[in-house]
Amino acid sequence: MTTAILAEKFSQAVTYSTIFEKSSKKKGYIEIQDKLFPDGAIITWGVGHLIELEMARAYGKAYERWSLSWLPLVPKASDFKLKVSEKTSDQYKVVESILKKCNDIIIATDAGREGELIAYSILKMANVAHKPIKRMWTNKLVESDMKEAFQNLKNSEETYGYYVEAETRQFADWLIGINGSPLVSILLNNHLKNDQFVPFSLGRVQTPTLYMIYENDKRIENFSPETFYDIKGICQSEKDFSVELKEKKSFKSKEELNTFMSENKLKIGLNSGYVKEANIQTKYQDAPELYNLTNLQKEASKKYGFTANGVLDILQSLYDAGFVTYPRTDCKYIGGEEFLAVFKQREKVAMCMGIPNDWKNDQPNKMHVDDEKVEEHSALMITSKIPDYKTMNEEQRIIYSMVAVSNLKMFESPYIFDSSEILVSVEDVDFSARGRVDRDLGWKRLDKYLIEPPTKKKAEKKEISILPNLEKGMSLKVTLSIHEGETKAPQMMTESRLLSLMENPNVESDEDRKILKQTSGIGTVATRASIIEGLKSKEYIKDTKGKLTTTLKGKILCESIEGTLLSNASMTANWEKYLKEIHKGNASQEIFLQKIEVFLNDLIKKLPQRIEDKKAIFSALSENEKNKNKICDCPNGNCKGIIVLKQLDGGKKTKLYGCTEYKKGCKVILPYEFSGKKLTETNIKDLISKGMTRKIKGFKSKNKEGKEFSAKLHFDKNTNKISFVFE
Ligand SMILES: [Zn+2]
Repeated sequence: MTTAILAEKFSQAVTYSTIFEKSSKKKGYIEIQDKLFPDGAIITWGVGHLIELEMARAYGKAYERWSLSWLPLVPKASDFKLKVSEKTSDQYKVVESILKKCNDIIIATDAGREGELIAYSILKMANVAHKPIKRMWTNKLVESDMKEAFQNLKNSEETYGYYVEAETRQFADWLIGINGSPLVSILLNNHLKNDQFVPFSLGRVQTPTLYMIYENDKRIENFSPETFYDIKGICQSEKDFSVELKEKKSFKSKEELNTFMSENKLKIGLNSGYVKEANIQTKYQDAPELYNLTNLQKEASKKYGFTANGVLDILQSLYDAGFVTYPRTDCKYIGGEEFLAVFKQREKVAMCMGIPNDWKNDQPNKMHVDDEKVEEHSALMITSKIPDYKTMNEEQRIIYSMVAVSNLKMFESPYIFDSSEILVSVEDVDFSARGRVDRDLGWKRLDKYLIEPPTKKKAEKKEISILPNLEKGMSLKVTLSIHEGETKAPQMMTESRLLSLMENPNVESDEDRKILKQTSGIGTVATRASIIEGLKSKEYIKDTKGKLTTTLKGKILCESIEGTLLSNASMTANWEKYLKEIHKGNASQEIFLQKIEVFLNDLIKKLPQRIEDKKAIFSALSENEKNKNKICDCPNGNCKGIIVLKQLDGGKKTKLYGCTEYKKGCKVILPYEFSGKKLTETNIKDLISKGMTRKIKGFKSKNKEGKEFSAKLHFDKNTNKISFVFE
């Protein structure tokens, strides 16, 4: 019989079918006729992950319910149980029957770890992994590339290592989730004594990621601003310019500053000084690195406010349409041949984006093009399929233009600028000023072809000034003054920052990264976005206009695992590093799973005491959270509750003010809206403490005209009712 071609999903199967001579679509598969397959071929496809790992209960009756008694559950690698995902079992049946009937199989899922995992899980489940298997491997869904890949199939062994690596990751994640989640949930719920059981979960990547957000929260919470003082000088010249102290930038107190001034004979006001040094250097800057997925996510998140997951979705849609190369890449380089491919397309792409065809460079630069640095995938590239720019949706245009412009910058000249540094000496104290003048924008010219962000975010505050031409030895009048400032709170966590931290937990700033050797991050380029989404959907973190903070639930989980490996991203990054060696054959699945088992045994042994020790912290956290929302104490005599704004999950989301002891029978409730007017927290405080508000404007009468009127409100503690008071 025929060859079975296994695609990752329906749309991919359809794209493949277009390159063959004849194709006819059936239910769940497409029949192919082409000289490449004299005996015929059938393309079928998965839907997401058709196959999943079974839950604990599949391993025996004892595991049906969460319990501390059966922990840990650690099957041997060969004993992990697979199951067909219920949602997509119909498609699986089609795939299975095709795979069972065919003579040989071509795996044509996405060319990456995930694609390998999807394919081999299906082959294992269908029990057909012994049949002859070839791999179709391309990172561009463009006709010529797909044809070439089908004509030059790889042996399955060439990519099988990626499957072993992905499978090991899947097993490890399962082990930590299936054991860690009941462990931490049962222990925590014993302590928290909530009305309802609150499930918590642990994850190999998820938990260290959460902990990094928590650490940032604590840094912000513990921060208190400090006042500092510094000295600024204005130099009089053909064009005035400002200078600051070169060495000691700021002082903790005015006294300290005054002592410094008098010791150095500096005066507030006019001083005389001279130009000690005036250096101008011409500098050249090459076009920035090409994008890998994480860097594109970071930049698009910062500039356009996308979530990491949003960027991946858009990029995936561009890839499925054939416009960009495979999205899940962590490489920032392309190969020599790929450079030529982009080179060939540059005019067409430029035309589609309205960029003038005026290129300054045809040569590959090691910064971008390096065959030795390309591994599984290359940096994100445009393909030979050029989109109709105008019919793309706005989001696609944003992401496509980012990729295209990053590629086209390779063909521009370097950015050239003059950097000047001036040292001014006043009474032997050095003051400095820096300036920059653009000589040639070079690749920066292309930035204007990127899509403008919807609301222009404030440009980063970089004072780049043009300094006058000064000669060494020139004397200058310098007016000194004292400035008072306040230290700034640590930055809030954003997805962009979090991605950087996941990529490299040890070093946060891009500057540090250049100096220090890149260590392994946590998670893979393909999974980071979904890890962040998972933290949101499980309500461990809140996303307030792009700022990420932990919730009470998240904080409690973080406190309970503090001090374990799961609170240490740099340590879990070592796991990731080990995993990445598996596909190369330098590391083994068996050893890795043993490491996980050792970790789990340790966690099971130590976590009960750890959580016991945190009792006081848990109640402090809960109290803290409560007080954040507190409007006032409950007016009900014996009640110890507080009044908070509550969100009710009704058909419509409605709000009201009520007592936290509602479940214990306290029925103090005040409306969020009264006669068409929203009541403020101050109104509620007044009602409860004084029984009466000030005059409030903007109530609407119930008659037809809905006339607005003003009145005071009165609250009757005994009947719990509010009424108008007109004076
Ligand atoms: Zn109450």
